[in-house]
Amino acid sequence: MKIDNKKVISIIVPCYNEEEVLPLYYNETVKVLNEMKVSYEIIFVDDGSKDKTKEVIKGFAKINKNIKYLIFSRNFGKEGALYAGLENSCGEYVVVMDADLQDPPELLKSMYSILQEGQYDCVGTRRITRKGEPKIRSFFANGFYKLINKMSKTKIVNGARDFRMMSRTMVKGILSLKEYNRFSKGIFSWVGFETKWLEYENIERKAGKTKWSFGKLFKYSMDGFLGFTTAPLAIASFLGTLFSIIAFLGIIAIFIRALVDPSASIDGWASTICIIGFLGGIQLLTIGILGQYMSKTYLETKNRPIYISKESNIEKDEL
Ligand code: UDP
Ligand code: MG
Repeated sequence: MKIDNKKVISIIVPCYNEEEVLPLYYNETVKVLNEMKVSYEIIFVDDGSKDKTKEVIKGFAKINKNIKYLIFSRNFGKEGALYAGLENSCGEYVVVMDADLQDPPELLKSMYSILQEGQYDCVGTRRITRKGEPKIRSFFANGFYKLINKMSKTKIVNGARDFRMMSRTMVKGILSLKEYNRFSKGIFSWVGFETKWLEYENIERKAGKTKWSFGKLFKYSMDGFLGFTTAPLAIASFLGTLFSIIAFLGIIAIFIRALVDPSASIDGWASTICIIGFLGGIQLLTIGILGQYMSKTYLETKNRPIYISKESNIEKDEL
């Protein structure tokens, strides 16, 4: 990146089928940035949208030279889009932000002034309420945070959004994690750095629909567990040890009973079946846990790129 092109703030916006909300997002954000009087670039990453997102973004780029875009060859997921944006950003401070205006652009001002003081490397945001979110979703989300924080050494803050402003040093740290199975909430925390949290009430998306189905969220939470804790493997070993001890004690008990009272009846078919079934279940569960970790390892060893971009207006030195 040429030095004279250097911007103060880079904003990365992953977009998947966001044609409806993008014009609103653009207007609000550009207004705030103009008020801040800083040089900026907004990098829209079109994550394989099937609607007119790409055309809308190119339209912004035509009227505003600070608008950059990357268009993916297919849907790679928000994590891939974030990585692509970070990799192609050149700002001294880098923001990641959703397109749906659930992340209020107004907060950019306080984020910027906090980072400029130099005490923090990151200003993150936390929703203190989950107002407007389906109850069942909040229930599972809260359960997920409780469990992962018990199991993982990497702290994952409940209600923390991806919306944050980071220093270039922190972005370099994040980019040095090149894993294929990315779970940004964990990665942001894993790299360390002082983070200041700003809190706000949940805001519903301004237009369009959420891209997260229950199934997608479940997969996302599994990525969190598999990426940031190996505790399930330890639990599998623990269960194996526990049941071996129980079985060993059982054998001794049966042996002693046979010695003391050789005529003891050999009934108990039902309980035997229950025990066999139960142990079979535990075995399958633990093999399943192993399998999950193995499948992630398999994907990592393939070393596939995190995203493939087919079009962009970002000039890179090597091109
Ligand atoms: N997004 C993306 N790729 C995907 C799914 C989502 O780039 O496969 C983007 C989406 O366009 C939005 C952000 O990620 O800018 C957050 O998505 P959404 O608002 O649907 O999630 P929610 O706020 O409901 O958790
Ligand atoms: Mg949203």
